[in-house]
Amino acid sequence: MSSNILEKTVLDVHHWTDSLFTLKLSRDPSFRFDSGQFAMIGLMVDGRPLMRAYSMVSASYEEHLEFLSIKVPNGPLTSRLQHVKPGDKILVNKKTTGTLILDNLLPGRRLYMLATGTGLAPFLSIIKDPSVYERYDRVVLVHGVRHVADLVYGDFIRDHLPQNEFFGEEARHKLVYYPTVTREPYVNQGRITDLIKTGKLFEDLGVPALGTEDDRVMICGNPQMMTELTTYLDAEGFDQGSNAGPGHYVIEKAFVEK
Ligand SMILES: Cc1cc2nc3c(=O)[nH]c(=O)nc-3n(C[C@H](O)[C@H](O)[C@H](O)COP(=O)(O)OP(=O)(O)OC[C@H]3O[C@@H](n4cnc5c(N)ncnc54)[C@H](O)[C@@H]3O)c2cc1C
Repeated sequence: MSSNILEKTVLDVHHWTDSLFTLKLSRDPSFRFDSGQFAMIGLMVDGRPLMRAYSMVSASYEEHLEFLSIKVPNGPLTSRLQHVKPGDKILVNKKTTGTLILDNLLPGRRLYMLATGTGLAPFLSIIKDPSVYERYDRVVLVHGVRHVADLVYGDFIRDHLPQNEFFGEEARHKLVYYPTVTREPYVNQGRITDLIKTGKLFEDLGVPALGTEDDRVMICGNPQMMTELTTYLDAEGFDQGSNAGPGHYVIEKAFVEK
């Protein structure tokens, strides 16, 4: 097994729904990352490591590691991972990477983080990073899901984060949480792409439509949303940033279709 793979202990498992759960693991001091990045985590299966990409939910300064996971029926990893219990061991590769980092964006006034499903994970790390509030006047987190029960971490974002002793006050003033649901009645409804293209999101927030001058965008979600949004942003003159150089927007797939 690669010397980069650490064996960490499960501290806590929280099952949100039949298809979503959160894992908390012990953290190794040598495990370092920037808010928004991902790592490969997994289990030993038939004597070999079975690893998948997971975005860190925890902040880079937190003592534990936290991940939000889907449960894919018959998924090679998640059909097993969903059964782990406190005390079990999880493999974590300490090589971290990813494009959804603040340094990959040009300076701007408003940051939009657009997530579907488990694509929320990297943005949970970013909204716990005090530097996001230093860099932006407004930090907008849009989470699109099918059912209200899939709006995981809503209470944390709304109630807990604004009480943070270090950056709670800034979060209270700057962070806007916009959850939206597609298959049930809810205060905000509809797909993120439609909310953007029709301008409904910006009307609701009381801000101008997206523009390259002031707005920066991070996107993490299902492959179809990513394609639609990148096509839209490219047509609006937004340049894509990456680890090779900053731009107006950055993307990361929340999973890969097989
Ligand atoms: C950069 C990156 C970051 C990722 N971060 C996360 C994360 O933070 N949390 C997480 O749960 N997964 C994440 N994934 C997906 C993850 O790597 C695995 O695909 C997932 O854990 C399922 O593993 P599996 O072996 O059970 O099934 P796989 O064989 O990997 O996947 C089977 C199928 O399930 C569907 N699927 C997989 N993952 C998801 C998902 N997250 N949401 C909806 N459908 C999915 C896809 O159709 C996929 O083809 C990420 C993937 C990438 C590329």
